[in-house]
Amino acid sequence: MDIDLSPEYTEFRAEMREWIEANVPAGLKELANWGWQPVAGGRRGGGRLQAMADPIFHTWEERLADAKLICATWPPEFGGRGWDAVRFAVFNEELRRQGVPAVRRGMGESLVGPAIIVHGTPEQKAHFLPRIVSGQDVYCQGYSEPDHGSDLGAVETRGVVDGDEIVIYGQKVWTSGAQQANMIFVLCRTNPDVPKHRGLSYVLVPFSPENGVTVRPLRQMSGAAEFCEDFFDGARAPLFNVIGGLNNGWAPAMTTLGFERGGNATTAHLGFEQEFWDLVGVARKNGKAEDPLIRQRLAWAYTHVELMRFAGLRLLASLAGGREPGPEASVSKLFWSEYHKRFGELAIDVVGPDAMVRPDGEGYATDDWQDVFLSSRAGTIYSGTSQIQKNIIGERALGLPKEPQRDERTA
Ligand SMILES: Cc1cc2nc3c(=O)[nH]c(=O)nc-3n(C[C@H](O)[C@H](O)[C@H](O)COP(=O)(O)OP(=O)(O)OC[C@H]3O[C@@H](n4cnc5c(N)ncnc54)[C@H](O)[C@@H]3O)c2cc1C
Repeated sequence: MDIDLSPEYTEFRAEMREWIEANVPAGLKELANWGWQPVAGGRRGGGRLQAMADPIFHTWEERLADAKLICATWPPEFGGRGWDAVRFAVFNEELRRQGVPAVRRGMGESLVGPAIIVHGTPEQKAHFLPRIVSGQDVYCQGYSEPDHGSDLGAVETRGVVDGDEIVIYGQKVWTSGAQQANMIFVLCRTNPDVPKHRGLSYVLVPFSPENGVTVRPLRQMSGAAEFCEDFFDGARAPLFNVIGGLNNGWAPAMTTLGFERGGNATTAHLGFEQEFWDLVGVARKNGKAEDPLIRQRLAWAYTHVELMRFAGLRLLASLAGGREPGPEASVSKLFWSEYHKRFGELAIDVVGPDAMVRPDGEGYATDDWQDVFLSSRAGTIYSGTSQIQKNIIGERALGLPKEPQRDERTA
């Protein structure tokens, strides 16, 4: 089903389809299985990472950049095209239709950029956003600490103002993509004397050993080590790098979280759909498609992907009508992550005993289905656990009584 909400978008779709056909470099489609939804959790992603280092991918990246098709929803003055959510979704559908990847700027595009757009000063937008679009600044996210994950407002990493700089001391953990990043957005405590959410700042910190940051990789059960723990021993950033103002970090932090949980809700089904049909292909080949219980579970998965599609369409229609997204972000995050965990289990059952044998290869090699199974376990933890999403849905969408705070519970 195409997202064609008006003649204007139909025309836009035709324009994008033509542009992609004319500009895809030869060999790009064959470089990797680009169709699956890229998710975190230590997923190696069917050869995507190696493919992204290939010169053919770089040619594609350059062509998209020249046409301002990277971060295209951002305002034109900062390198984007000012697209609305519908155009973004249509473009993604067209890329998917032609079996080629979008070029994304990771957490810079999906998490910190939106917070800068909403809370940054004009000078901050002009400085930081183009550097994300060009790929010069690659961000990772410094929220979680060893003792504070779900309870984000209680972070203890300190930020101390020193002249026109802020100096960071403390530890962050589970930092995805830290090894590729040269910048980190850190939520730190700049005023310990006020109630916890009011003493926080959101700071963009140069992420390098020269700036007093030590990074140690942590191995995940998938065998990958795509997240790290980071130690800040006097890391410095200009006060200019504080987004939303000193001690006002909770607001940009929540904007980032909203985009983290719901940012791709309009198009996420596309990747899950491809993955689903690939698994049906395996089941047809190895005879499992004849097993009534497997068929039942595949039907369950299919209805879930369809539900994601319809929820995405509903959200798109709402955005096209000028409404702001509401609690859809948490509903979407809860839905896809719980789905994907069960889909990973189904994949292993469809593959059968072969799923117990890892392929030969360097390190802890896994095949695509083992990779889905292992990495999908993390989906219900990162970007806010399922329990936290349920709390948000209960309190903010359904209007249920608020959860008692820790001090009220122990009083
Ligand atoms: C693959 C992966 C990548 C990650 N990447 C990043 C990253 O890049 N940057 C970053 O900052 N962090 C990252 N994280 C960390 C992630 O955000 C935290 O793990 C998550 O917020 C949970 O925090 P925690 O691990 O401290 O668990 P806790 O908060 O200690 O939770 C433990 C358990 O208690 C439950 N619980 C906690 N509070 C409540 C409550 N109020 N009501 C009901 N149940 C509750 C939780 O649901 C969970 O089951 C990543 C995690 C994973 C797994």
